[in-house]
Amino acid sequence: MNSSILWTDVGPRDGLQNLSATVDTAVKVRLVRGLLDAGAPRVEATSFVSPKWVPQLADAADVLATLGDGLRDRLRVLVPNRRGFEMAVDAGAGNVLVTIGATDSFNRRNINRSVAESLEDISAITAAAADAGCVVDVALSVCWGCPFEGDVAPARVVELCGEIAARGAAEVGVADTIGVAEPARVADLCAEVAAVVGRERLSLHVHGTRGQGVANVLAAYGAGVRRFEGSVGGLGGCPFAPRATGNVCSEDALLALAAAGARTGVDLDAYCAVAERLGEDLGMTLPGKLHRAGVWHPERIAATATTGAADG
Ligand code: MG
Repeated sequence: MNSSILWTDVGPRDGLQNLSATVDTAVKVRLVRGLLDAGAPRVEATSFVSPKWVPQLADAADVLATLGDGLRDRLRVLVPNRRGFEMAVDAGAGNVLVTIGATDSFNRRNINRSVAESLEDISAITAAAADAGCVVDVALSVCWGCPFEGDVAPARVVELCGEIAARGAAEVGVADTIGVAEPARVADLCAEVAAVVGRERLSLHVHGTRGQGVANVLAAYGAGVRRFEGSVGGLGGCPFAPRATGNVCSEDALLALAAAGARTGVDLDAYCAVAERLGEDLGMTLPGKLHRAGVWHPERIAATATTGAADG
């Protein structure tokens, strides 16, 4: 099986939109560039959502314009609906993500639509995207548990993922939006969804809310998943669990994946430097672990010890 993975860093979007403070456009652009330079295959740069709901991302078009055309094929943006999709395409986006909840309660609270209505929206967006030459990915939220309905039946998730794939999504994502999944359930559901949508189209988005994030990524890798999402430094809370952390930390998970034989394309030292710089820019310590401890380089210790011995 192919060991190459497609990691999408969602920090500039999913991370920053969960902060109460609004960050300068220049800081966002530097963050996206830093992640791409560190080897992140793809970065979710922003969201074309109404500034009324998410004022932190009101500069979405400016962010894309400043980044320029040369980076477009490694960027993705979130769009909540058809209107957001049109704004994104006008701004030059070539890859968008649409999210839909696995339960009606979650979907209504999040985007004020029933699941059936959202599926129709997805059909309309993929049809329009084909004309615009834009790639549409779709992610299904709360696949392992919903804050309003509790457990979600795996069969329902599999059914919805099949619907999403049939409506023209390039990538079908499953998300543990409130961080309640454990590795065994992640491996089981990913295998079931992969059997329906195809392993190469399946993507996983997990949170570290209850300490299972990296383990869940590894479990999915073992089940054949090769597309993942996470956030640099673990940036971003969880809006449904105010005291908890959110997105799995990209560099923490990428370390584990690389050690398991995955080809990530990422320079972990450079990635950690991006996390450190972001923490300084935001005036906070980001929850990820690797950027604080540093990448383990045993060869550097050995070199020092040898020098010491030679010096007597
Ligand atoms: Mg998230």
